[in-house]
Parts: sequence; structure tokens; C-alpha cells
Amino acid sequence: MTTRVALIAHDHKKDDIVKLAGEYVDTLRHCDIVATGTTGSRIASAHGLTVERMLSGPHGGDLQIGAQLAEGRVDIVIFLRDPMTPQPHEPDINALVRACDVHNIPCATNISTARMILDALTRRQSQQT
Ligand code: PGA
Repeated sequence: MTTRVALIAHDHKKDDIVKLAGEYVDTLRHCDIVATGTTGSRIASAHGLTVERMLSGPHGGDLQIGAQLAEGRVDIVIFLRDPMTPQPHEPDINALVRACDVHNIPCATNISTARMILDALTRRQSQQT
């Protein structure tokens, strides 16, 4: 089954997630990608990836992704949070990260962890071909 990856980044982390998606574009091309609104449009336009876009995070996009995850429809979450800026939707952010822990879904909240997860995914894909 196709791996379904959720990509989310706060405003100060958007350039980072676009760059990260570019580094792993060949891997992500073989995945289903779901993202919050603005993150999704940035990644889609930068790399030509097909991205299923939810609402913007502050408008409930994190919760939509959390709901999919609770239904078993998300395999990996890359969530580049901005630890330096208060977010109006902090409860939604916590709910999504909590849902990852409840359902034992790998969740990267910084670039280093994201690279480790995406490296593992890349290796798994190359073993499957
Ligand atoms: P955005 O949402 O991708 O629509 O900016 C991300 C967030 O702030 O949680």
C-alpha cells in the first residue's frame, strides 16, 4: 500500500520544509502526500508533487490530519513546528502530536528527525523495487 505522508510547517519553517521536500522529492513522488493548506501549496508549486491539501493549520487543518491519522490513514507525520513563536492553534498542534503517540505513528518535529524518517522510507522503497 502507498505510504501516506503528512507534511506541515509553521510559517517560519516553510522554507525548511520546501527544501526538505526537494531533497526527498524522488521518495515523496511514490507517496500519497497530505498537507495543511499553505504548506501544501508551497510544496506542490515548488516541486510539482501532487498534494492533498487540507485547511490551513489555524483553520483546522491540523485537526483534519489528526482525524485521518486516528482512522489509520496517515503513516508518517513531518511537522516542523516553530518553537519560538506562540501559535493561535496550539491546542490543535498538541492534539495532532498526541494522536501520533496514541497511534504510534512516527512524527518528526525537526529537520534532523525528519531526515532520519525519510532516509528510512527511501531505503524501504529501494528494497521494494
Ligand atoms: P499552513 O498551516 O500550512 O496552512 O500554514 C500550518 C500550521 O500553521 O499549522
